[in-house]
Amino acid sequence: MAKTAEYLKRFMNGVKKRNPGELEFHQAVSEVAATIFPYIADKPIYHKMQILERMVEPDRVVMFRVPWTDDEGNIRNQRGYRVQFNNSIGPYKGGLRFHPSVNLSVLKFLGFEQTFKNSLTGLPMGGGKGGADFNPKGKTDNEVMRFCQSFMTELHRHIGEDTDVPAGDIGVGAREIGFLFGQYKRIENRFVGVLTGKGMEFGGSKIRTEATGYGTVYFMQNMLQRIGDGLQGKTVCVSGSGNVATYAVEKVNHLGGKVVSLSDSSGFIHDPDGIDADKLAYVMDLKQVRRGRIGEYAETYKSATFHEGRPWGVACDIALPCATQNEINREEAETLLKNGCIGVSEGANMPTELAAIDAFQHAEILYAPSKAANAGGVAVSGLEMSQNSARIAWSEQELDNLLQDTMLKIHDSCVEYGKNKDHVDYLAGFIKVADAMLSFGHT
Ligand code: NDP
Repeated sequence: MAKTAEYLKRFMNGVKKRNPGELEFHQAVSEVAATIFPYIADKPIYHKMQILERMVEPDRVVMFRVPWTDDEGNIRNQRGYRVQFNNSIGPYKGGLRFHPSVNLSVLKFLGFEQTFKNSLTGLPMGGGKGGADFNPKGKTDNEVMRFCQSFMTELHRHIGEDTDVPAGDIGVGAREIGFLFGQYKRIENRFVGVLTGKGMEFGGSKIRTEATGYGTVYFMQNMLQRIGDGLQGKTVCVSGSGNVATYAVEKVNHLGGKVVSLSDSSGFIHDPDGIDADKLAYVMDLKQVRRGRIGEYAETYKSATFHEGRPWGVACDIALPCATQNEINREEAETLLKNGCIGVSEGANMPTELAAIDAFQHAEILYAPSKAANAGGVAVSGLEMSQNSARIAWSEQELDNLLQDTMLKIHDSCVEYGKNKDHVDYLAGFIKVADAMLSFGHT
């Protein structure tokens, strides 16, 4: 044990030295390494072949200039990225994020985690992530279109249906995917499944929009059912109000729970009466069509109040963080536990700080890390790729069944490697990628 801890410390010192200042990346590697080192302690082949040391180095990183012109005629300049992390088990696959906070550290953490998540789905997909420090907020549709076209003018040469297949993430939804796909098609003169999350008219898959939020809730339901419980009658706190959050709310409602919070970067609303289907339709219109702030909800629905900060002080049985990374700290985790929270399923990527994960695991509540819990989105993206290649379209029911089945399989494989009855672990995702790398020799 002491030897493993010492080895882990040395390994992390090396990662920090080679990737200075990349705090999010250090955090993601540290979490994964703490899970994997005890497992590989008695498996010398992984050490001899330097598997982890190789896994933390992306296959390649592309960084590029994205010039675009705003509606006033000013030339603006953003930085674009694609991190192709690991293609040992399939083409690189992972979303594009457009947000001012995007930098290399954030995209490396996301691409690294994506590798294990994609492996867990059981589908042949490697890990990647990309994006730009572009803020779509407050931009007109024409400005967003010009930016997306400029971004794809460079990105197109690095991606392909068998090479690298990006999707959406924060700030990249149906509108942006449409603009990006249109430009790819125009430059390449090929209609292929090079992006997922496409519109239904041009090769999109049913359930893809819903899949991440639905999958996060299916995972929670699977964990609850394993201890003879379920979401029926549970009070649920959700953060975020974008793609993942809104479909998580929809699925909690389907399964008989009551969601009492939503948030955005301006604060959160608390609605003790619950966010039913009508209120949810209002939120979708507010955030996706009118692109407004969540506080407007409390002006429309008198049962609700608006507060600054994050929603974790609201008493709940279940917490579903669905906004962004590092949105639950230790203090907030302890507040959730004190208020009786028995389960956390991560819709967002790395929403829980390391000290907060410790608190959840120490309290032995049901805790589902994002690499497992939010894999439903990329799983249905994988199914979108299959449908595109085969030129077919499956029905909503078939796809929802496949999504549920995938989340249950991920849950079961995580339970197999968990330390105790409340603990799930994503080791199966690591093992598949590591063993593929072993087969390739020194690549
Ligand atoms: P959206 O852009 O649709 O929504 C993001 C939401 O999070 C918005 O409500 C946004 O508020 C809020 N948010 C973003 N940054 C912050 C911040 N710094 N502080 C507080 N709130 C913030 O993104 P998605 O729903 O697609 O993604 C949410 C999370 O889920 C991300 O971590 C993403 O990586 C992860 N994820 C998404 C998948 C997908 O299929 N879309 C798949 C797997 C994971 P505001 O409107 O004010 O910006």
